[in-house]
Amino acid sequence: MKEINVNNNPAELRQMLDYLGVAAFVIDVISADEFRLAAINARHEQLSGMKHAEIAGRSVVELLSPGTVAQLKANYRRCIKNKAAIDYQETLDLPIGRTYWQTSLVPFFDKAGKVTRLLGTAYEISDQVHLELEARYQSTVMSVYLDESPDGILVVDANNLIKTWNRRFLEIWHIPEAVMNARDGEAALSAVVEQVADPESFVRRIRELYLSLNEEEQGVRIQMKDDRILERYSRGLHAPEGNYWGRIWFYRDVTELQRMTEQLLHMSQTDPLTGIANRRVFMQRLEKEYHRAQRYGHPLSVLMLDLDHFKQINDRHGHASGDTVLKEFVRVVTPEIRASDCFARMGGEEFTVLLPESSLRSARQLAQRLCQAVAALTFDSPQGAFGVTVSIGVAALGDNDSSPEQLINRSDRCLYMAKQQGRNCVRPKGDTDDCEISVPML
Ligand code: GH3
Ligand code: MG
Ligand code: MG
Repeated sequence: MKEINVNNNPAELRQMLDYLGVAAFVIDVISADEFRLAAINARHEQLSGMKHAEIAGRSVVELLSPGTVAQLKANYRRCIKNKAAIDYQETLDLPIGRTYWQTSLVPFFDKAGKVTRLLGTAYEISDQVHLELEARYQSTVMSVYLDESPDGILVVDANNLIKTWNRRFLEIWHIPEAVMNARDGEAALSAVVEQVADPESFVRRIRELYLSLNEEEQGVRIQMKDDRILERYSRGLHAPEGNYWGRIWFYRDVTELQRMTEQLLHMSQTDPLTGIANRRVFMQRLEKEYHRAQRYGHPLSVLMLDLDHFKQINDRHGHASGDTVLKEFVRVVTPEIRASDCFARMGGEEFTVLLPESSLRSARQLAQRLCQAVAALTFDSPQGAFGVTVSIGVAALGDNDSSPEQLINRSDRCLYMAKQQGRNCVRPKGDTDDCEISVPML
């Protein structure tokens, strides 16, 4: 190495450096602020994209960007000041782009002990640095995702050790951070289990999932003692080559969603004025009961009810009184109806009752009772007390019926007939379906 110190011929210096297996360079120290590249070797040329012939003897200021130069000079000065070899990592913006290096600098001295030259050897570590940067990027994205996720997330490894969790997980399960910091999956399970409405089956299922490494769970509902409803998603974590790493758990609080869904469902099925089923529910039930009755040969009947002269009630006593009549009508009819029946408002002042397991005879009897109960109602209004009556058409499933509509049409015709024949009455009159003959135009 003495030769490096004395050799002032760049070409010979270059030859010597080529014997080194790593990228190497020699710096002439002109002053504390001026450094010239005396030589670089072939390996350096290869990695840096610079050419020995072009750079030999030139100041680093001419060759590199100001940022890179500032960094180089700081390291050179440190080596000169220490009068000893130094190691460091550096980022160089070279003509080929940004590169990362692990560099060693060795100082050479003149007789007076002044540093005149620096020998640098360097390994390019750009690939490792890029991998590290990528890993750091991934873990930043991951931790932001964990923090911002509306789901409570927990990752447990193959030995039931807690690997990671997020803030929402602690909130959902009311777990103190200390329990999680202990990393013991079993202790965390004990901390949550008493909050679940059915702790036994909760624990059984968790253990089952830990054993079935490939099983996935999608949106399993968990009822909590405090009335919340959680939804659980879970899947096994496997390395790309297939090794089992553990399991990830997602818990979502769906209490509000569930409440809104139930509310929407209720609204879509209910008549807002009277609170009974609407036409849609009735038609669905009719379809179902029709097929069931057909299949098993069971009876099925329908009542079609329409308030009499309802328009007059509105006209004389006002729309609000009309509404009261509708609600009162529903109030007196409801207790007469079995839980298995379906009482619905079809629209306006028209109602239906679906009676599974009821013959025409018993349906007629019910209709008679309803007629009487409704006729007994009285209402007050500034225009004086008034009452209301209802006409009812009854139809029972017949052997020749081939669709639910036929049953509805027949009860409609009977209702029409009740209206025709004086209102406040039930048709057919007897226990045979006698409405068809009397209304020929229908
Ligand atoms: P009929 O005996 O032949 O059935 O005569 P009606 O007056 O009862 O029958 P019509 O179909 O002529 O009139 C029904 C009235 O019901 C007309 C409509 O304004 C009224 N109506 C419909 N829905 C409501 C409601 O929600 N509230 C009130 N107050 N009135 C309603
Ligand atoms: Mg009417
Ligand atoms: Mg009507």
